[in-house]
Amino acid sequence: MSLEDKISKQVRSIPRSGIRDFFELVLGRNDVISLGVGEPDYSTPWHIREAAIYSLERGETSYTSNLGLEKLRRSIAAYVKGHFEVDYDPAREILVTVGVSEALDLACRALLNPGDELIYHEPCYVSYDPSVTLAYGVPVPVASSAEEGFVVKAKEIERKITPRTRVLMLNFPTNPTGSVMERSELENIAQLCIENDLIVITDEIYSELIYEENYRHVSIASLPGMRDRTILLHGFSKAFAMTGFRLGYSCAPAEITEAMMKIHQYSMLCAPITSQVAAMEALENGAAAVASMRRDYKRRRDYIVREFNDMGLPCHMPGGAFYVFPDIRSTGLSSRDFASGLLESENVAAVPGDAFGASGEGFLRCCYATDLELIKRALEGFRQFLASLKG
Ligand code: PLP
Repeated sequence: MSLEDKISKQVRSIPRSGIRDFFELVLGRNDVISLGVGEPDYSTPWHIREAAIYSLERGETSYTSNLGLEKLRRSIAAYVKGHFEVDYDPAREILVTVGVSEALDLACRALLNPGDELIYHEPCYVSYDPSVTLAYGVPVPVASSAEEGFVVKAKEIERKITPRTRVLMLNFPTNPTGSVMERSELENIAQLCIENDLIVITDEIYSELIYEENYRHVSIASLPGMRDRTILLHGFSKAFAMTGFRLGYSCAPAEITEAMMKIHQYSMLCAPITSQVAAMEALENGAAAVASMRRDYKRRRDYIVREFNDMGLPCHMPGGAFYVFPDIRSTGLSSRDFASGLLESENVAAVPGDAFGASGEGFLRCCYATDLELIKRALEGFRQFLASLKG
């Protein structure tokens, strides 16, 4: 009996994450400096951890409502109103999930019929394509280029629209490129969605991590005519350094929230109560800690971009998130060969760009949510590796 045959075709058809494959090579090696994993090097701010500890001490260990604690949903509604200028009813339009990861899966499963097409811009977060496939949809990537600052244009999306297109997925600031979107182009995209009757899933998990003072993050949900055709995904992992709490949420019209909730109630039941209590503390009192981490990330971003350009690996200045995406094409190596060589000879780990889709080939993703001293040592490794290629 072949157990391989027993696995569903859908699961067999998706690849393992390129990030995971690469990082299995690094696992257990203390000698490696990693710019790989996309998570803050900070622990969760102490007052948030304390809120979780006190909650456990009070014996709060039960299930919550499927939608999540009502008080948390009210806090989320206030936060979303404050940051994105969109109103959501906490009783019917907000669903607390196990990270944005779960919300993304729920959104795809709630919206897609077998064979429906979902368009997304690439290079992108590794989960998008498989989440669509696992929901029996057809993922349709739109490549964005370094020359355009990795920002997708409405006219490129338009070219991919067919009668089967049902959903557009957006992610600004973008993982892995750190790109941000200007309001004027977002308006063009919104217009396209209205004309073609598309639903938008917008993953704005990095919206707090924006570094230019005169740039203002705009959610597509806030543009005229878009609220009722948008699922806004957000979470606590990145800005609040809460990856291990596994907490996110979606904001969407009541009918869509109800559909997502139906899947969530059978598959997850609810998000963990301890994490929900911690998230309330994050929203109520976490802004100062976020601002302080943001200042540090900005310093690191400025440094790492300057260094890459200086060593001859062109690197655009990302407006947000905590990734840079240097161009290694001039070396003649593929992303994978460059990343493997760098790891083998310099003990520095970065993710090959093709892990984020075919249009990421020729680039590397480096996460700068890492101590500045380690970043400096990693960049020294890059310089030596480049010198060894020349010599
Ligand atoms: N969306 C994007 C764009 C991400 O980069 C990540 C994590 O790297 C996620 C979603 C997953 O976030 P969460 O930890 O909330 O599941």
